[in-house]
Amino acid sequence: MLLFTPGPTPVPQNVRNAMSDETMHHRTPEFEAIFEQTRKHLFNLFKTDEVVMLASSGTGAMEAAVLNLCHNTLLNVNSGKFGERFGKIASACGLGHVEIKNEWDTPVSVEAVVETVKNNPNIDAIAVQISESAGGLRHPVEEIAKALKEINPNIMIIADGITAVGVEKIDVTHIDCLIAGSQKALMLPPGLSILGLSNSAVEKMGSGRGYYLNLASEVKKQKQNTTAYTAATTLIIGLLEVLQTIEADGGIDKLYEKTALRAKAVRTSLQAIGLHSYPTTPALSMTTIDDENASEIRKLLKEDFDVNVAGGQDHLKGKIFRINQMGLIPPYKMAWVVNAVELSLAKLGRRKYDGTASKVFNEIIFGLDN
Ligand SMILES: *Cc1c(COP(=O)(O)O)cnc(C)c1O
Repeated sequence: MLLFTPGPTPVPQNVRNAMSDETMHHRTPEFEAIFEQTRKHLFNLFKTDEVVMLASSGTGAMEAAVLNLCHNTLLNVNSGKFGERFGKIASACGLGHVEIKNEWDTPVSVEAVVETVKNNPNIDAIAVQISESAGGLRHPVEEIAKALKEINPNIMIIADGITAVGVEKIDVTHIDCLIAGSQKALMLPPGLSILGLSNSAVEKMGSGRGYYLNLASEVKKQKQNTTAYTAATTLIIGLLEVLQTIEADGGIDKLYEKTALRAKAVRTSLQAIGLHSYPTTPALSMTTIDDENASEIRKLLKEDFDVNVAGGQDHLKGKIFRINQMGLIPPYKMAWVVNAVELSLAKLGRRKYDGTASKVFNEIIFGLDN
């Protein structure tokens, strides 16, 4: 079965092998050397002043960011389940929150954010997804960050990059906290999250808040290549292998290029067989198709063609399906996925099969389209 959900994503064979050794003790020079090397690679990936790894799923990093970087009122951008989650986290942390809500296909506008911040002087942090995975859309996070810092240089910009870090180059000039999670673009099993932090973020957190999620304690320890509590050793060993694999495959910029081309090829090939791309500003992490037969297509993909794609949640359950584009994906696997979607439409009697999807996909990927 081909796993093509936008998280979890498949773990490459060499990464699984790297994680198959005996468990290493975390307070040893051997592990600290691995930790140090991993940190170096992470600085190259995140381009932030500081990085911190946590033994938690992505949501743990979202909570750590809000808890440590928002001290009054959080502005959360809700164009989907993950944006909504930031508001719930703020409430759980005893913070106030103001929400800008849109339909799941609609990104927030820079103007709406600016106006909300101007009208609410208590807002001291904003949390927004770069790629909102609920509907697969891209928010204009860099523009928002720039505009907000012009109004208030002290406002903290928390960017959830769980389906963006490792997918595309992110300009972190005005971002204070950039979050990644292991099981999405980083091609690892779940359980590790990473936060890239600006110097202003480290300054604002002071001695930190919370206990396990206290980022100040982690920054202090991780600068010395160790962690405050037991590190997720196996996942960090896997992460180093992933980051080395990306290097060996031509580097991170090459991966960004390939991902962007793959995203274009998938979306264009599915549109060529009459399908509709759901979000108005699609993220590069996934292609989301809204379709009245979304459930049937997903079922056929799984049962007849060995392809596992994700559906929708809440009000989009049964209305969309989402195909992963993150990671090191060989073209022959991705080509099978778009072909399988076309075969499913034929099985449903919607369209006579003629191979258009794989033709368009291959032409774009292999540069035969001009
Ligand atoms: C998956 C995801 C999360 C949640 O991460 P978990 O690892 O499931 O806790 C948050 N934000 C985005 C954009 C995601 O895709």
